[in-house]
Amino acid sequence: MKRILILHYHEIWLKGENKNYFLSRLRAAIRQTLEDLPVASLHSVSERLILTPGDDAALPQIVERLRRVFGLAYIAPAHEVPSALEPLAAEACAMMAEANPANFAVRVKIADSNYGMNSLEMERELGRRVLEHLRARDATVRVKLVNPEVTCQVEIVPGKALIYTQRVEGPGGLPAVTSGRLVALLSGGFDSSVAAYKMMRRGCHITFVHFFATPSPGRSSSAGVAEEIVRALTPYQFTSRLYRIPFDAIQRQIVAGAHQSFRVLLYRRLMARIAREIARTERALGMVTGDNVSQVASQTLHNLAALDQGIGLPVYRPLAGDDKSEILRWARQIGTYKISCEPFEDCCPRFMPRAPAIFARAQELDEAEGRLNIDALIRMGLEGAACTEYKFERGEVTQRENSPRRFENLRREKNSMEGQPAAHNAASNLSA
Ligand code: ATP
Ligand code: MG
Repeated sequence: MKRILILHYHEIWLKGENKNYFLSRLRAAIRQTLEDLPVASLHSVSERLILTPGDDAALPQIVERLRRVFGLAYIAPAHEVPSALEPLAAEACAMMAEANPANFAVRVKIADSNYGMNSLEMERELGRRVLEHLRARDATVRVKLVNPEVTCQVEIVPGKALIYTQRVEGPGGLPAVTSGRLVALLSGGFDSSVAAYKMMRRGCHITFVHFFATPSPGRSSSAGVAEEIVRALTPYQFTSRLYRIPFDAIQRQIVAGAHQSFRVLLYRRLMARIAREIARTERALGMVTGDNVSQVASQTLHNLAALDQGIGLPVYRPLAGDDKSEILRWARQIGTYKISCEPFEDCCPRFMPRAPAIFARAQELDEAEGRLNIDALIRMGLEGAACTEYKFERGEVTQRENSPRRFENLRREKNSMEGQPAAHNAASNLSA
């Protein structure tokens, strides 16, 4: 008997001609995730992957890591035996004796057209033998086809049978980095981390953008929280980039120049405008936010519609229709819940108006923006950006600071323009 892992993917086989592409990305993601762990082989066998460990003792750690590989529907720690009935039945009996259920079922899948029996015949035959074996110890054991305590799963592939009684859920979705790039507005709160995760799970590679304000004395900055969240999410997509953008000065100008009821919406529009510039340099095809319809005043349908007008980039809101309890469940599952629970100072509620607009129209926001120097505010954000690169390798996330080179030309331009009249400043069309 040999111990192996069966890795099942559900959606990839639906992908027609692209199947090989998705499968090769899935295999690459598995290899990268397990880089530092002993893996003897990884083979495709009849619409599943079979992983043989180099050392059985590493199996629990391998399974734990695989739970973060997008594309995997479930992982089954299994025993591999020859597919002939006798060795197969003996192993099934031994495994079920160990599981020791009060009731059970046997399920057989046959992916070998030359196998002499069909799956129904096999289920009956194995069920009979397992029942006899278990009853030798406990006469009350019975077969229960609906909702059994333990299911003995048998998968027959050419030349061998794979048997298991437990399986571990995978994250599902599509393999990492198969769908293109998006920019996520990451606040440090529960919602935006889950929103980014959900799009990562659809194969999108996420670049994170976080806006922070200098915290009041005794409070911590949201930037540290955002960094920790990116560290927690990086193993799912292997590399991440986080832009941190100081927002104090921008907020002060909005507070000084716009009606209080539009403040929060203008902060949000400015965030989106700055993120759009980052999306351009990153060649990202859209933006992700953690908005959730009507959760807070800025998230009414009217306000969301007004916010998106003129942004010129698709805005994905994967949590739009979720309940908070569902979002929190996701946050716990993906490991961001505890991080977002840390107290930090969010910049959005700053200078919170007493009566925020809940039915804003795009035109009203445009007019309010018209009274501000939006191009200058966008430049201010980009010029202040700091950038950190994260990498998941050999089971660990490493990080390094990176100068956001892409904005260096902006800085150079600024330096060379210093002292020249504002009209000649090359800050053109940023907010168009
Ligand atoms: P979250 O839990 O993600 O903070 P929220 O329910 O608190 O969301 P808002 O504060 O209105 O709602 O923010 C809505 C969305 O705007 C966030 O989900 C996020 O995508 C974006 N956002 C808000 N604040 C910031 C920030 N400081 N930096 C980057 N994005 C932000
Ligand atoms: Mg928030």
